Amino acid sequence: MKYIFVILILASSFGSMVHAQKAEQKPEDATYQAPDNMIKKIEQKTEAEWLEELGPEKYKILRQCSTEPPFTGKYNNFKGVGNYVCAACGNVLFSSETKFDSGSGWPSFFAAVEKGKIKEILDTSFGMTRTEIKCAQCDGHLGHVFTDGPKPTGLRYCVNSASLDFVPKE
Ligand SMILES: [Zn+2]
Repeated sequence: MKYIFVILILASSFGSMVHAQKAEQKPEDATYQAPDNMIKKIEQKTEAEWLEELGPEKYKILRQCSTEPPFTGKYNNFKGVGNYVCAACGNVLFSSETKFDSGSGWPSFFAAVEKGKIKEILDTSFGMTRTEIKCAQCDGHLGHVFTDGPKPTGLRYCVNSASLDFVPKE
C-alpha cells in the first residue's frame, strides 16, 4: 500500500515537471517572426502623433471616423491604373481593377485586394445599421461596405478619398 502511494506521488510530480518544461519552450524569444501573410499591427501611436502625421483633414476622417462631402474627394472620378493604399500606413487595400462608378460621390470598389486587409465593424451611428470598414493594419477609418454593389461580389466598398493614396502600376 505504501509503495502505491509513493508511486502516485512520483507520477504526479513527474507530470508537473513535464508541464513546467513545456511552458519554458514557448517561443517568446526575440528571433520569433510572424509569417509574412499575417497582418502586422503597426506600432501604437498617440492621437497627438496621428494628428501631426496626417494633418487635421485626414485625421478627422481616418482617426475620428468623419466622412468627406460627396463628389469632393480626389479619387471619386479618378481612373488611374494601380493600387489604392491606406493613407495612414501604406497597407494595400484596393486595386483599380475593382473600382467602379457607383454615382455615390465617393470612390467605390466591389472587392478588397486581399482578404484580411480590411476589417469590418457593425456601425449603428446616426440611427442606421451599417458596416464600417477599417484598415486592418492601423485601424484607420476607410468608409463603409454595402451589399448593393455590382457582380461578381455584390459588394460596394464606399471609401473616403482622404483615407487613400494611389500607387500607379509601373
Ligand atoms: Zn492603415
